[in-house]
Amino acid sequence: MDRDTALAGLKPHIRDYAEPTDVLVETTTRCNLDCSMCPHGGLEREQGSMSRETWTHVVTQIAREWPKTRVWPAIMGEPLLRGRELFEMIDEAKTVGVASVCLNTNLLGLATDRMDDLLACGVDRIFVGVDAASAQTYERIRRGGDFAQLQERLRLLLDARQRRRRGPRIALQFVVQEENEHEEAAFVESWKSAGYDVELKIRPRVGWSYGVESAAEVRRTASVADRIPCLWLLRQMAVFWNGDVPRCDADYEGNEIFGNVRETSLTEIWRKLGVLRRRHLGGDFSMSPCAGCDDWAAGRSETIECRAAASCSGSAERESVAS
Ligand code: SF4
Repeated sequence: MDRDTALAGLKPHIRDYAEPTDVLVETTTRCNLDCSMCPHGGLEREQGSMSRETWTHVVTQIAREWPKTRVWPAIMGEPLLRGRELFEMIDEAKTVGVASVCLNTNLLGLATDRMDDLLACGVDRIFVGVDAASAQTYERIRRGGDFAQLQERLRLLLDARQRRRRGPRIALQFVVQEENEHEEAAFVESWKSAGYDVELKIRPRVGWSYGVESAAEVRRTASVADRIPCLWLLRQMAVFWNGDVPRCDADYEGNEIFGNVRETSLTEIWRKLGVLRRRHLGGDFSMSPCAGCDDWAAGRSETIECRAAASCSGSAERESVAS
């Protein structure tokens, strides 16, 4: 993808948002994997799990103040490690009126007999990290993971979803990076013919600002394109497990905190973040860590729709929001 095409998908979304389109909420920093594209293994800030009280506080405000905003219950960490409690938390979010809950997961933390519980908890969309078409590549990227276990759980989940004949929507995610780009086509082809209603989401690896190296296509775009305001900043808010709010989830250590949701309302913290949004919109990217971050150029996100009744046909709906 050339730079103009990559950024063309982002530019229509550039404006100052009165409220975030998405709030990422760190339900836990615990994780069962040590993925090569994630800085979790070197995380230095204090780790923990969000209290139910803080979760209730956050989702209640979002439902009341920002009725169209989506909630993603993960930043660092694997949310399914909270077990049944996570299902209760998602159910609570939907019950109080959150528009949509989108779960990013590696799925390995879910027992094989709990698929129906996950599907029934109220979650609207589930994104499962796959990133490979072979065990060798999967286990090289998703260190500590077992490809056979993932495949078993995926099929159980998709079979259970097929039996329900209704939501949630499920997407299999492939984060393109040097280690797996040779398997992107095989990944798509294998799921095209698998016989499930499922989406395939393909996007390049981001760098988490100062965390890991971003994919070559992101670095290439960032090096040659005129810089644009960062949509991660313009559209999203991140809430760490302890209630702290950084500028974006790419500041995963929380080097600059704009408030804590236990002391300050989400609306007030969003207003404070507006100073940064306006600097970006004015063409000022000189602040740290934005100055050295390429993630603003991570524009590509393609969705391929697969249908159980026929082979995959849809393709390449480019969007700017991902997680
Ligand atoms: S440029 Fe990087 S550090 Fe700055 S807001 Fe965007 S993702 Fe965060």
